[in-house]
Order: sequence, then structure tokens, then C-alpha cells
Amino acid sequence: MRTIKSVLAISLLSASAATAAAETPVQQPLSPAGTFVGGGLAPDGTPRGGYVVTDDPQPLPPPDDVTYHAPKIFYVNRGGGTYYPGTNDARTNRSTIVSSTRTVPAWNVSAAGWNQVMTCLTTTFSRWNVVITDVDPGNVPHYELVTAGRPQDIGMQQGVGGVSPFSCGVIQNSIVFTFAAVYGTDYRSVCETNAQEIAHSFGLDHERLCQDPMTYLSGCGNKSFQNVAAPCGEYSNRACQCGGSTQNSVALLDQRLGLAEPGMVDAGPTPPIDAGPLPAPDAGPSPAPDAGPGSSADAGPQPQDPDATPNPGDPDAGPGTSDEISAGCGCASGSSSSLPPTLLLAMAVLLVVRSRSRARARASARR
Ligand SMILES: [Zn+2]
Repeated sequence: MRTIKSVLAISLLSASAATAAAETPVQQPLSPAGTFVGGGLAPDGTPRGGYVVTDDPQPLPPPDDVTYHAPKIFYVNRGGGTYYPGTNDARTNRSTIVSSTRTVPAWNVSAAGWNQVMTCLTTTFSRWNVVITDVDPGNVPHYELVTAGRPQDIGMQQGVGGVSPFSCGVIQNSIVFTFAAVYGTDYRSVCETNAQEIAHSFGLDHERLCQDPMTYLSGCGNKSFQNVAAPCGEYSNRACQCGGSTQNSVALLDQRLGLAEPGMVDAGPTPPIDAGPLPAPDAGPSPAPDAGPGSSADAGPQPQDPDATPNPGDPDAGPGTSDEISAGCGCASGSSSSLPPTLLLAMAVLLVVRSRSRARARASARR
């Protein structure tokens, strides 16, 4: 066990890029469940968001999992609500963060202020396969970013800017809190705290890179996720909760959210990371070049289960999400000239399978 851990740490140090390709096994956080990490005021007075380490058995999805094709829905909720203790589920307002039933009042924010928050979040996550909405998606899988109230509303201490459950995997349908009322009209901070909190639900730790929203550092302008291996920690370097001493927020989000448009995003300075998780799941039947040992067994037509498209027939599904999904996943024609032929073939196969499965889904919806 010790050997495995140190090997892992070394490989993370020498090539954090490699983590994007093969990170299916669930790793336990270093801190025990229930530990609250972070929180409190930054030196400039900005409240900082923390996370609570959570026992969460959900493994990371395998690289060919349908979750890489269905966009994650981030419901940004300024209306508050009542939250009950239980396994995290935004559809039923259950959260491991609250230990008793708690009500968060709505955030009394101007339309212009809210618009700033939503625009900032949309920009911050534009790289990834995410739909950001302030309309409750209802009974479909989604994440909820409660953007309202104060930490005391859910039984936390003053000075905490936000909180999320945390495991080293993805906490499906998680609810995260950004205590917007404590930020006044600092809409940028509301956005950046939200970005940090929701990223905690995808296993991202705090990191010591001022330009990144996962940081506790301030005084370097607006933050956006950085494709940089940065040390973990709040005000001093420490081991990352999920192993190693550095974290690359973009690489982790690439892996766990998927890219908005596989062929459209610039590969950036570290191609192995960016090229990683997405082409492989799309490749389906044709062997992907970076498919590791054992992953070939997972390949094949099964990922195109009709369930992948979130309820096309469901009127609650929100404005046109399912069509946008298909476009986001399959449409790479704009940059097809730069794609290798095997990938093009794989995409063509995907499109056919996808349209069939959509037809099937429609047919079953009519039944
Ligand atoms: Zn945090």
C-alpha cells in the first residue's frame, strides 16, 4: 500500500498529465470524513470557501462512461430553499453538509448583479461540457449551486464564504453553497467562490495559484482555471487531499466535466492532458491510442445507452439541453481538417449510434 502510494506521488510529481488518462480507482481523501478544510477570511477580508470531506462511495466514472457525453447541469439558485440531511442529491434537497433541516433565505440581488454572476460563471466554465442555468431543472440529474444566505443559515461559522462536500471522486447531483449575502455587491467573488465550491464536488482541492479560483490567495485580478500544476494548500503548501503535492485544475475538470466541444478547444500548453479523456470515450469500437490496460473491455457500443440523453421527452428537462448535448459531443466539423482519420471515423460512428439512440429514446417516450 505504501509502495503504491509513493509510486503514485512520484508519477503525479513528474507527470501530472498522466492522471487525466487513467484515474478510475477511487482514492480516499487524506483527511477523515467530516473534516472541514479551509474557510475564514483572506487577508484582504474576502470570505473563503471550504469543503467538508465526505464519505462518498461513488467511483469516478470510467473514461467511456456516458457521463462524459451528457453535459453537467449547474443550477445556480439565488432563491434559497430548505435542505435536509442525507446523501447529496440536488433533486431532493438532501445534503451531507447540513446536520438538521435548514432553510436558506433568497438572495436579494439586483437583476444586473445576478446577470454579472451568471455571465462570469458561464465564462469560467465555457471550456467544459456544462449547462449553467438559473432555472431549476427539476427531477433530472443536476448540480445545485445555492447562491444565497449566510453560513449561519446552515449551521456554519461566520467568515465561511462557501462550502461543498468533497471526496476524491465526483459527488453526483451535489449541492454546494456560496453564502452570497456576505459578499454584498462583490459579484465577482460570488462567482469565483461558486466556481471553487462546485469544483470541490468534482474532487478539486485548494491550490496555491493566485490566478485560479481554487486558491485562497488574492490581489492578482480576476481568477480563471489555470492549466498549471500548482501546489495544494490554503496559506501554505501541503499535500493534496487526493495524493501528490500539486494539482492541475484544468486537467481535472477536463477529465471530470469533459470538454464543451472536443475538436474546438485549443489544446493549450499540455496536449497530453487536453487530448486525454474525451477522444477515448468517443472512439468507441476503434481502439483508442491512449486506452490503458483493461479499458478496452469497457469500450464498445454500450455507452450509447438511450439513458445518456437526459429525458428528451421530459418537459422539465430545461430549454433544449438534449439537442445541445448532441451538438456539443458530436459536432466537430469546424475543425475536422486537423483531426486524425481514425477519430473522424469514430465520430461518424458515434453520430450514427447517437441518432439511433435518440430515435429510440423518442420512440420510448411516445410509448
Ligand atoms: Zn474551498
